[in-house]
Amino acid sequence: MSDYRGRFAPSPSGRLHLGSALIAYGSYLKAKASGGTFLLRIEDLDRPRCPQANTPIMLEEIKRLGLSSDEPVLIQSEHEQDYLNTIAALPQAYRCNCTRALLKERPCPCQKLHLAPAEHQSIRVDLTSALAAHPYFNDGNFGLIKQADYSHELNPNLVLKRSDDIIAYNLAVVVDDHRQGITEVVRGADMLSATFLQLALYDLLGYQAPTFCHLPLVLEESTGHKFSKQNHAPALLDLLTPYEALKLCLHLLQVQTDPSMVTLVHERLSAYRTKPHCVAPQPSTQEAELLTALLHQAVTRFDPQTMPRQALML
Ligand SMILES: [Zn+2]
Repeated sequence: MSDYRGRFAPSPSGRLHLGSALIAYGSYLKAKASGGTFLLRIEDLDRPRCPQANTPIMLEEIKRLGLSSDEPVLIQSEHEQDYLNTIAALPQAYRCNCTRALLKERPCPCQKLHLAPAEHQSIRVDLTSALAAHPYFNDGNFGLIKQADYSHELNPNLVLKRSDDIIAYNLAVVVDDHRQGITEVVRGADMLSATFLQLALYDLLGYQAPTFCHLPLVLEESTGHKFSKQNHAPALLDLLTPYEALKLCLHLLQVQTDPSMVTLVHERLSAYRTKPHCVAPQPSTQEAELLTALLHQAVTRFDPQTMPRQALML
């Protein structure tokens, strides 16, 4: 086994969508084609968005897609104290009483104020100088990514703990990728800008950063929207059987071309739009075996050089 350690780390805000499944298979194939380890992590710290009941449903859907973790699944909500300890040990962290509305009007003055703990207070860190050390990074799929192209999206006063006491995504993901010894993060292109914040956090925490490899988003051609819960996309396994879902993802990842899967999705989507319910047929009895065999074959065929770089239109 190689030293490569990859992961798929969904937020269980609902059922699994096509965009997430593509990342799941992309990260799995990259890890397995490298002879490495594949891990699962459930990023469920945002309780209002990710009710506890969603986690077993998400894990079951990942399992139906033929994917399993080589080590115990890490559930973030079971480790809240670790993130708090990390924040407490970070000398650059500071308390902030600014509301979102106030921050729109003026910069946050709190860093210099050394505020006493209070309710509805966030904890932030100033990443200005750490960000300056990362003018670019080399993405495993897209190549050179320049911070200047994303500076409008980057707030250097990064929230580590939100004013509603929820640990911020950027902090938790860095703590856990480090904790799990992840060597490469494969995820969606919507995280390109956050990579700069995370690289800066790795520096402040004194952790060795992994490499990053982003995959393009899957968009619905008619609307230009992502296939995600926010856009009311149907859950993947309400549209396709797991075997069909794998074939579609392999087509999108350019591992095994099968344009008929795109036609099939369009047919099922229009059936779903007519009457929103599960339009996927009951999987056949041999499906699980076919899926396992196809997934093994895909590992041998996967070539990271031919991963897609343009947005994937369906
Ligand atoms: Zn403030």
